[in-house]
Amino acid sequence: MIKQALEIVAKACGGKIVQKGLIDGVFGVSTDSRTTKNGDLFIPLIGENFDGHNYIETAIEKGASAVLFQGSNFSINKNTNDKVSFIEVDNTLEALQNLSKYYRNLFTIPFIGITGSTGKTTTKDMVSHVLSYKYNTLKNIGNLNNQIGLPLTIFNLEENHEACVVEMGMSGLGEISDLAEIARPEIAIITNIGLSHIEHLGSQENIFKAKMEISNFLNEDNFLLLNGDDKFLKKAKESEHTFNKVSIGLSEDNDLYAENIKDLKDKGYVFDVKINNKLYTFNLDQPGLHNVYNALFAIWVGTHFNMTPEEIDESFRQFKPSKMRLEIVKLKDFTLINDAYNASPDSMTAALKVLSNMDGNKKIAILGNMFEMGEHSEYGHRLVGEAAVTNNIDYLITVGNFAEWIAEEALDKGMLHNNVYKAQNNEEALKTVLQIVSKGDIVLLKGSRGMKMDEIATEIQERS
Ligand code: ATP
Ligand code: MG
Repeated sequence: MIKQALEIVAKACGGKIVQKGLIDGVFGVSTDSRTTKNGDLFIPLIGENFDGHNYIETAIEKGASAVLFQGSNFSINKNTNDKVSFIEVDNTLEALQNLSKYYRNLFTIPFIGITGSTGKTTTKDMVSHVLSYKYNTLKNIGNLNNQIGLPLTIFNLEENHEACVVEMGMSGLGEISDLAEIARPEIAIITNIGLSHIEHLGSQENIFKAKMEISNFLNEDNFLLLNGDDKFLKKAKESEHTFNKVSIGLSEDNDLYAENIKDLKDKGYVFDVKINNKLYTFNLDQPGLHNVYNALFAIWVGTHFNMTPEEIDESFRQFKPSKMRLEIVKLKDFTLINDAYNASPDSMTAALKVLSNMDGNKKIAILGNMFEMGEHSEYGHRLVGEAAVTNNIDYLITVGNFAEWIAEEALDKGMLHNNVYKAQNNEEALKTVLQIVSKGDIVLLKGSRGMKMDEIATEIQERS
């Protein structure tokens, strides 16, 4: 973060300086006293189970030079450290967001915002990876994509950054709009409209509306990039808007599309893309056809920022996805596809396709509960059960009560009883898979974050 004077910070977040400490300014922002650094502004947030105001002292010990606080949760007294500055605000979360809005506007570099039901992190990683080949690019770390993570990402901007790529996540209407208002992307990307978070939003139509909020602040010089093979986004492409729209996909009616796709199984894909009427070849070392879509977004963005197709292709060759996203781990006897980061019906289906497509003996899928699906839960799990059968999976091990619907649908669709197991927990699933697996097999591991399916991955790796 570029140093900001105290008066400016107070003004930007609508606060009042109630104590001036030794240092006039802040050099960073922290909301977690465990990682607060020298010169940081500590912003205590209030969560369901915690109040950051209880950690103000720890943050000061760690070197915070200034502290924001809500008058209703904290008061200054004679014991308060007088070397530190204090700014009082009505609401610390709003203050964090307002300060990040102010800080973002100090930069004239392009911002690229990414939302969608699945593939946000992967697309963010690909787009920023491609841009980093030529430009000093900031991206949000990991999955810090919400109303707190996005502002914190923005505070990492330094003078020498040339582009910023941010993921925007949501669980309800209005949230993406708030994030877009902070980041003000000039290029917005929507990867697809699936079923994630349907519990809060009620319908796919509402999910679509929520994702489209990323375009709320685009002007006529800006771009919305859409997956044109997605039925909701295709409709959006055809509607009237003031900003520019670009569709990407595999079908030829998209503005940018992949053709002559060669499937190299677990080695990824080689495909051609027509750019300015000339065909260029790209090599993507990532399995899963969905990654070709993610790559197309990156190709468009790279080209838009004057990168040559050769530079983009070269950068793809060094791309590594974030951990636990279709991570292919070759063990001594068999292969593990660790996709345990999270799950939705769409990403489960995508992962089953990858498993089905790989060369191996038995294909074993360990699939755990998918959460946040509310009344659509049974339907969503059954879709996955059907996908297990259409993708010719040999053995299915489900983990958890919701995931039993996956097993039931697979049985209904003709999978053999002896090949379907319903485990109650990860330990049971681990035992079962170790009994089934043999040389040359491929094991897929996937479930919602709350299922902590990576525990199984760790155990499997330790034992093989
Ligand atoms: P979250 O909502 O948890 O932040 P996300 O949208 O960031 O998820 P990723 O973390 O990139 O998504 O990927 C989640 C899962 O979806 C992974 O299993 C990944 O392999 C798969 N995936 C990635 N891109 C796509 C895509 N375009 N379509 C379908 N599945 C995808
Ligand atoms: Mg993500």
